[in-house]
Amino acid sequence: MQQTTKKVKQVPCPNCKALSDFSPENAYRPFCSARCQMIDLGDWANETYRIPEKTPAIDLDDLN
Ligand SMILES: [Zn+2]
Repeated sequence: MQQTTKKVKQVPCPNCKALSDFSPENAYRPFCSARCQMIDLGDWANETYRIPEKTPAIDLDDLN
């Protein structure tokens, strides 16, 4: 039951949400293309948006 197909993790492009290969062959990962990477970097430079916090909302005060 060995899988011969190459398992490549796919991640959604942060810019256009298209699935792109998250592999060394994709120089633009996690983006799908140089274009999306450039657009995203441009947005960062202009601070037009911030990365959404992925940390779960855990209130440490609730642990007591
Ligand atoms: Zn893209």
